[in-house]
Amino acid sequence: MAALSMKGWQRPEMRFRKWGALRRVITTRRLVSTFGSQPRSNNKDIKIPILERLNSGDVLVGDGGMTYALEKRGYVTAAQWTPEAVVEHPEAVRQLHREFAMSGADVLQAFVFNGTDDRLNRYRTGETKLKCEEVNKAGCELVTEVAKEFGCYVGFNVSTTAAYEMEMGKKKVQEEFERQLKAFDGFECDILIAEYISSVEEAVWAVEVLKQRNLPIAVTLSISHLGDFNDVTPEECGKRLKEAGADIIGTNCRFAPIDTLDAAIMMKNGIQETGMSSHYVCQPNGWELECKNKHGHSEEPECPYAMESKTITRWDAQEFARRAYEAGIRYIGGCCGMEPYHIRAIAEELREERGRLPLNSRGVNGSALRDHPLESMRKKANKEFWMNLKKRR
Ligand SMILES: [Zn+2]
Repeated sequence: MAALSMKGWQRPEMRFRKWGALRRVITTRRLVSTFGSQPRSNNKDIKIPILERLNSGDVLVGDGGMTYALEKRGYVTAAQWTPEAVVEHPEAVRQLHREFAMSGADVLQAFVFNGTDDRLNRYRTGETKLKCEEVNKAGCELVTEVAKEFGCYVGFNVSTTAAYEMEMGKKKVQEEFERQLKAFDGFECDILIAEYISSVEEAVWAVEVLKQRNLPIAVTLSISHLGDFNDVTPEECGKRLKEAGADIIGTNCRFAPIDTLDAAIMMKNGIQETGMSSHYVCQPNGWELECKNKHGHSEEPECPYAMESKTITRWDAQEFARRAYEAGIRYIGGCCGMEPYHIRAIAEELREERGRLPLNSRGVNGSALRDHPLESMRKKANKEFWMNLKKRR
């Protein structure tokens, strides 16, 4: 995609430290979104390549979990977790992409997870069957449209293959990755993301295929500190992915933010121990989970229909963002269970580092309560109150 030259995030007027300045920024944005024909973009003028942004020390915010969010809204079938909604309810998918963009996401991922012929239509019969090509084309069109509107980066993603699960060998697995990639032909993207892979062996095979497209490659393993499904340690996983040629390395899904982050840090340590360097990513689930085994949230009794009680708060998301940033992770987002308001909390927490607030920010750290008529509410207009509340749970 074309790289534009203006570095909007460096503009002095976008820098702020005091609430007064914050309030002016927010007020202006409210007026723009109320009266302007187009919502104002965080990134419209700064579409420089992702790796250049990371090389310069910028922090990028990812989006959240499309599949679980759309299941809760009634557009995805639990257990099947396939993306037919891009064809059947494009307005719902478009709106969720928009919500993530307005919440501060710099990278929007196409909603094509599980969009392969063998996984689509598992519970369908007759004329309603949809094909991989049609579904992926629609998913690419939708994300491209919204990314253009908000100046976000477009990520196309591939994920773990049935061929690897069935131990069909490297050739078959790589053919499956090729098929997933082929679905994106004709569309432009800024980054390829291999995600939700639980064995580094399969992830390395994915990188070998993805590298042929000459685009930045992010790889996220769905692992905790327990290591991958073949008992390879996170440190060794990181090292192997770096050697394979991945540009951005880390973790996503399956586990709570703290466990997903721990594994990403261990991968980083493994890479650094060998004297190499990399960029790092962490996109955890939005649930509080005990790390009991390598399967993560799927093994919870509440999964998938009663996960609400495990949902993290926006304050948990802020805390995660801060910890990830301090650990040197510079691509920070979410996966299943992370809703737009969690992503907004991440972007708000990193507002000084990023030099801007999300478009739909309505005051940070509870500040919107400062003018409330009730004193009991005004007392909550600070971060300490909410962080202490969290500790009391
Ligand atoms: Zn997920």
